[in-house]
Amino acid sequence: MRILLVEDEPTLRSPLRAALVEAGYVVDEADNGRDALHLGESEPFDAVVLDLGLPVLDGLSVLRRWREAGRAMPVLILTARDGWHEKVAGIDAGGDDYLAKPFHMEELLARLRALIRRAQGLASPLLACGALALDTRSSRVTVHGQPVALTAQEFRLLAYLMHRPGTVVSRTELTEHLYAQDHDRDSNTIEVFVGRLRRKLPAEAIETVRGLGYRLVAVP
Ligand code: CA
Repeated sequence: MRILLVEDEPTLRSPLRAALVEAGYVVDEADNGRDALHLGESEPFDAVVLDLGLPVLDGLSVLRRWREAGRAMPVLILTARDGWHEKVAGIDAGGDDYLAKPFHMEELLARLRALIRRAQGLASPLLACGALALDTRSSRVTVHGQPVALTAQEFRLLAYLMHRPGTVVSRTELTEHLYAQDHDRDSNTIEVFVGRLRRKLPAEAIETVRGLGYRLVAVP
């Protein structure tokens, strides 16, 4: 899952980034509204953390312009502590949830998980597909209830597929959601990670759809 983190205050952005990476997300950052607007318009994100008070272009304007352009990714806005009017304006501009500063990192992560699964129509934090289960709260993966140890990259790939069971996902889409913009992207590496995952999971769970991509299927 790829997150756009928009926050101009370095002392907040830095720990936020660290917590998001620790939680298994790949992160692109912007420290002003203009860069945020551009990134959100041109790159696919699974969710955005958007501070409203930003230099160059304020967060509300950024959000409105994304929504006007049809960008539908979930957006969690960060507001000032007593800014109830900011919360209302943020939700009305197309925000999906808000968090008032200062906040606990755990709460931000929980709200993000909820936004990401809701965007895929999933209500439960425990994702299941046949014998496979992924607990988004603990990042634990099990097969028939037995824990499976995955590397960070294998986990990201599986988590993306587990949010879209039965849907064909192209290699390009996977590449775009598993790597940040500054990362050297090579869609061939996706094949390598799929191969590694197949050795750790029931191999048939990740089906290759020729010419299109991959699909997670329920294996009993
Ligand atoms: Ca700010």
